[in-house]
Amino acid sequence: MKTLVTVLMMVVLAACSTQKESKETTNGYVIVLLGAPGSGKGTQAVDLSTKLAVPHISTGDLFRYHKSNGTPLGKKASEYFDKGLLVPDSLVMEVVAARVAEPDAQGGYILDGFPRTLEQAKELEKTVIGNKKLLVVNLDVPDADIVKRLAGRGRADDTPEVVEKRLQVYHSQTAPLIDFYRKKGVLIEIDGSQPKEKVFVDIVGALNSQGIRSKS
Ligand code: ADP
Repeated sequence: MKTLVTVLMMVVLAACSTQKESKETTNGYVIVLLGAPGSGKGTQAVDLSTKLAVPHISTGDLFRYHKSNGTPLGKKASEYFDKGLLVPDSLVMEVVAARVAEPDAQGGYILDGFPRTLEQAKELEKTVIGNKKLLVVNLDVPDADIVKRLAGRGRADDTPEVVEKRLQVYHSQTAPLIDFYRKKGVLIEIDGSQPKEKVFVDIVGALNSQGIRSKS
């Protein structure tokens, strides 16, 4: 009888500890792509999304989607992005929170264009990523190359004045995130001025060495 009780107690204890462990382990990963407008984040994010079989979440695309569908959020946000200004953090958090709550994002996702301010970066860790592992890839491209690339892209918000404004905003609001993430030890630095195929190989290699394996 005594032995039976002991065995039962051990089973219960083992079950409790397994439950605790599973709560503490990470549930996928969040890869943030950081870089100036035109640094190639979007292109790399699409290819990575296919390779790793996790969704690509672009706040720029989400805002453009809302704008073209004439939603109230799209109308509010376009007052800012049409001028090259950042959309207020509260609106950004609203679209991000809604998107990461969708079923396809539960095993992890790639963020492109978010976070763009320190406030958003803090909010990301506090309320969005949960127990997922965070890795940040910075695509480093000199400003002169950026201006040339954006001039050739031809998107509606890529007029010279708006491009200039977005670059200024990038340097003052977003570039400080590079240091923020470097200090946390989660930053992967990539030379984004290389041909896009080489940039991709470098990113995949760096992620592999962090334990993120591709599915294809
Ligand atoms: P880019 O290719 O210039 O990086 P995006 O497509 O990522 O542009 O975003 C387009 C515009 O949407 C930005 O210029 C900005 O106004 C707005 N936007 C996108 N993401 C954010 C964000 N995280 N915070 C604030 N504004 C954002």
